[in-house]
Amino acid sequence: MKIGTPKELAAGEARVAMTPASAKELQKLGYDCLIEAGAGAAAGFDDSAYAAAGVEVVDTARLWSEADVVAKVQPPTEDETKTLREGQTLISFFWPASNEALLNTAKDQKANVIAMDMVPRISRAQKMDALSSMANIAGYRAVIEAGNNFGRFFTGQVTAAGKVPPAKVLIVGAGVAGLAAIGTSTSLGAITLAFDVRPEVAEQIESMGAEFVYLEFEEASQDGAATGGYAAPSSPEFREAQLAKFRELAPDMDIVITTALIPNRDAPVLWTKDMVEMMKPGSVIVDLAAERGGNCELTVKDEKIVTDNGVTIVGYTDFPSRMATQSSLLYSTNIRHMMTDLTPEKDGQVVHNMEDDVIRGATVTHAGEITWPPPPPKTQ
Ligand code: NAD
Repeated sequence: MKIGTPKELAAGEARVAMTPASAKELQKLGYDCLIEAGAGAAAGFDDSAYAAAGVEVVDTARLWSEADVVAKVQPPTEDETKTLREGQTLISFFWPASNEALLNTAKDQKANVIAMDMVPRISRAQKMDALSSMANIAGYRAVIEAGNNFGRFFTGQVTAAGKVPPAKVLIVGAGVAGLAAIGTSTSLGAITLAFDVRPEVAEQIESMGAEFVYLEFEEASQDGAATGGYAAPSSPEFREAQLAKFRELAPDMDIVITTALIPNRDAPVLWTKDMVEMMKPGSVIVDLAAERGGNCELTVKDEKIVTDNGVTIVGYTDFPSRMATQSSLLYSTNIRHMMTDLTPEKDGQVVHNMEDDVIRGATVTHAGEITWPPPPPKTQ
């Protein structure tokens, strides 16, 4: 069978789902690889690098018509979805909850769609967990972006020209992105504080050299009805205690990176206008929750703004694409692992085993049916 990767059509998307290195691994699984001309250019992989890795460089029409498996990053457009054919497999981010029309088209085309955003977050599936790979990059890049907009060092220094205090960084939310941001911030030498509603992350935060921000609040209420490692909405009392703590910290923080999310909800607003107003000129906020409305009240999605009191607020939502080489290397590896599970005999033949928890969980259309939402996984 053939696996092919088209050029991404979404504006500003620089990632690519197949790299020369991942193509070599896919060939070991028995597949012939195709890439659309120019598909890897923005991520730093030119056509000649693919050709040298044994990948055939083709035009758009050949790619979609010849590939038995199409692997890409962003959800397909409506037109791309209409070109899918019976039995063809598409693997990409798909966000089925917000893409009902696409889901229906893929079903009508009788294509099998595997949504990388639906890979169950169980131990066995970590190697395919593209949400985590991308969140890790976003967390790293958020700190780099903050540094780029901050006029001082992260680390403290004593030099002949004077003493420089270290920057103070607060990370709100310590999931995958938050922990990556904490690691980057501490390694750059900043004094790093972090807060999460899940108290179990305190140990991880402290082991990375950051300080966990404790609230004076009943321990039992810290994570309310949190389930499966995810946060639940806070009680009004807890939220007030959290905001009061942040108001105390705001005048002293140079950089605030917010990553707080609750599944299937808008991002909680945790850094309010008055907190921004209390911050020093030159301070920077990077809001990684901008896509879902933002944790900071003043965030403007996809923009960088500077407030009247000189605070820069970054609301970009494309951090992984801003590091397209790294993102493509990790994402293409996630795809390759998915293909390994889909190719049990390593003979270049896809076996879409709907009894397999991971494959079942990620499959949103199969054999003319919508198979989303999936039943809960049986294994961990
Ligand atoms: P996420 O992106 O859903 O949320 C980010 C963080 O925001 C979470 O840590 C959450 O607790 C926090 N948060 C929510 N409301 C908050 C508030 N009011 N104030 C401060 N913080 C708040 O999280 P994620 O990165 O997807 O990780 C969620 C969970 O999934 C974690 O427990 C993580 O370890 C787990 N996980 C497991 C696997 C796996 O087993 N394969 C993979 C990835 C993540």
